[in-house]
Amino acid sequence: MATFLITGGAGFIGSNLVQHALDRTADRLVVVDKLTYAGSLANLEGPLKDPRVTFVRADIGDRAAMTRLFDEHRPDAVLNLAAETHVDRSIDSPQAFIDTNVVGTFVLLETARQFVARGRDAFRFLHVSTDEVYGTLGPSGQFSEETPYAPNSPYAASKASADHLVRAYFHTYGLPVLLTNCSNNYGPFQFPEKLIPLMILNAVEGRPLPIYGDGGNVRDWLHVEDHCEGILLALHKGRPGEKYNIGGGNERTNLQIVEKICELVDRMQPAAPGASPRRALKTFVPDRPGHDRRYAIDASKIRRELGWTPRHTFEDGLEATVRWYLEHRDWCEQVQQGHYDRQRLGLG
Ligand code: NAD
Repeated sequence: MATFLITGGAGFIGSNLVQHALDRTADRLVVVDKLTYAGSLANLEGPLKDPRVTFVRADIGDRAAMTRLFDEHRPDAVLNLAAETHVDRSIDSPQAFIDTNVVGTFVLLETARQFVARGRDAFRFLHVSTDEVYGTLGPSGQFSEETPYAPNSPYAASKASADHLVRAYFHTYGLPVLLTNCSNNYGPFQFPEKLIPLMILNAVEGRPLPIYGDGGNVRDWLHVEDHCEGILLALHKGRPGEKYNIGGGNERTNLQIVEKICELVDRMQPAAPGASPRRALKTFVPDRPGHDRRYAIDASKIRRELGWTPRHTFEDGLEATVRWYLEHRDWCEQVQQGHYDRQRLGLG
């Protein structure tokens, strides 16, 4: 039985990954999370009942705490998902992005390097990153693992910095690292500041649906469970020092996403008699500064080398996600309370 240390495990992807790993492996999981506004133990209610899961509240930038964790749990792998993740917040207050995404990753790498130096075979450091490090695409083309980095937001720049450090620790110190760069995720437990949950909740409550710019920005959507599967495959079968792009090949404009959500909410929870359909709530607002126009991932390497294939179609995945948010309004209230009122962020 292996022990995996999952940082950021109380966030959206982290909590899905914890559940995914419990369902598919016999491993022990040590979940490390600072519990910022984006992390909540409400995301881990099921997993925390499992004796294989230990939760530790800690900051990945706290060197003493990380050293204690490694010494106590002697992990076979670290899966680093802890991060500040909202581009809009990175425009308003970039400091936390540098502290966690850059310095925090550096502290984890250093702790892992010293742990391995004290004698640890078959250790792995898997760092979860994003397609945003590659910058923006025109109307055609895709990001491959060889695409040069060109980050355009403080969030993307902080993730790119961390990726460079991860790579350097392989080449300089031989630390067995793996890097995954994934496209936009959707699914249960995503904090309601992100596009899909924000639009679902505003639509059901009859609040305006803010669409940045002309709504034509394209993202390549992937269900979070398919991302989790890719992470575990990279961990078990990936070659140290390699990076793997993960993406669903589901390119949609933000406007298409909002219109589909309106349709689904109208169907699942019809508006009051006489009320307008949800699409009447669409409101075009000033664009995000530095807003990347298009992302698209070439995932052929992870498909070819590790046998990864996504299981969810976008249509079914989105429908299930809308249903999940409509059925978990208490969770939505609980995680937003005192942190977020769905106000506009990121105008600089
Ligand atoms: P999230 O914001 O939902 O969760 C981040 C978690 O990290 C939270 O639980 C938070 O409390 C924790 N955290 C923040 N700072 C910390 C610190 N200093 N120490 C310990 N824990 C800390 O994010 P997410 O969407 O689940 O993203 C997870 C990872 O996946 C991130 O690295 C992100 O860059 C990457 N990623 C996300 C997406 C996406 O679409 N959401 C796509 C590709 C890659």
